[in-house]
Amino acid sequence: MQLGKRGSTEEQTLSALYEPEGVIRGKWLKRTSREEQIRGYFRTLYQAWGRQHWWPAHSRFEVIVGAYLTQNTAWSNVEKALMRLRQAGILHVDGIRQAPLEQLEQLIRPAGYFRQKARRLKTFVAFLEERYQGSLAGMFASPTAKLREELLALNGVGPETADSILLYAGNHPIFVVDAYTRRILDRHRILEQTASYDTIRELFERALAAVAVGYRDPDDGRTATQLRGAAHPPSRMSTTRRSPLAQVYNEMHGLVVGVGKKFCLKSQAKCEECPLRGFLPGGRKPVVGR
Ligand code: SF4
Repeated sequence: MQLGKRGSTEEQTLSALYEPEGVIRGKWLKRTSREEQIRGYFRTLYQAWGRQHWWPAHSRFEVIVGAYLTQNTAWSNVEKALMRLRQAGILHVDGIRQAPLEQLEQLIRPAGYFRQKARRLKTFVAFLEERYQGSLAGMFASPTAKLREELLALNGVGPETADSILLYAGNHPIFVVDAYTRRILDRHRILEQTASYDTIRELFERALAAVAVGYRDPDDGRTATQLRGAAHPPSRMSTTRRSPLAQVYNEMHGLVVGVGKKFCLKSQAKCEECPLRGFLPGGRKPVVGR
């Protein structure tokens, strides 16, 4: 739905709501680059919600399993599947490698597409064994570009899964792009939904590199009491020490997910309540459902 014509009372009211201090309506996009706008997203969301504590996991391998299981399903279903793997005592590399395929399928059933996902997990541990003698430390010691290529060559690993594994399990500085990222960029007229994954990833990486220069971890990750945005409670993996660049990419993806899940819905844009309302081009709500 598009609200109001330029200059109407309705639009003026919305503009007053949307425009942050110091922004000249209608000129913001011309005066600033796309990279600056993305840095603005980070500052605004981080100020509003703070650390997001992604990825919620006890170990690197749990992040990897979660990255596979979360494909095409809600995180709550992934949590159920992870719990069943943990209770069965096989939520580790050897456990998945040795478990009969049928048992693995049944355990991860709550995550959906369980036959396909069980085979994909088996493929990953076989790759790890063959290429890195079963060592995650050995695997993550590989250069980012080389390991990314190897992961992308595995059955069932697309860019989002590969980059989630690299960033959240391996602390490699690479930005994860998802459907929420695309939607926000499209609705803010920065890039179209059809832009390639790597075009979007590189845009965020260029933009956020400057944020990482001055980034300082505001707490030790164990004091968060309020979960805002898409935040998780602090976990062993979320509080791992990582480079400022990896930390900023980590936070930004979590913050984007918070916007996508709570405000920038597929069928509706709740701009009035969204922390990014000040970045709407011309202060106008996007047309949704095109
Ligand atoms: S809900 Fe509105 S303001 Fe928020 S990101 Fe989506 S389009 Fe932008």
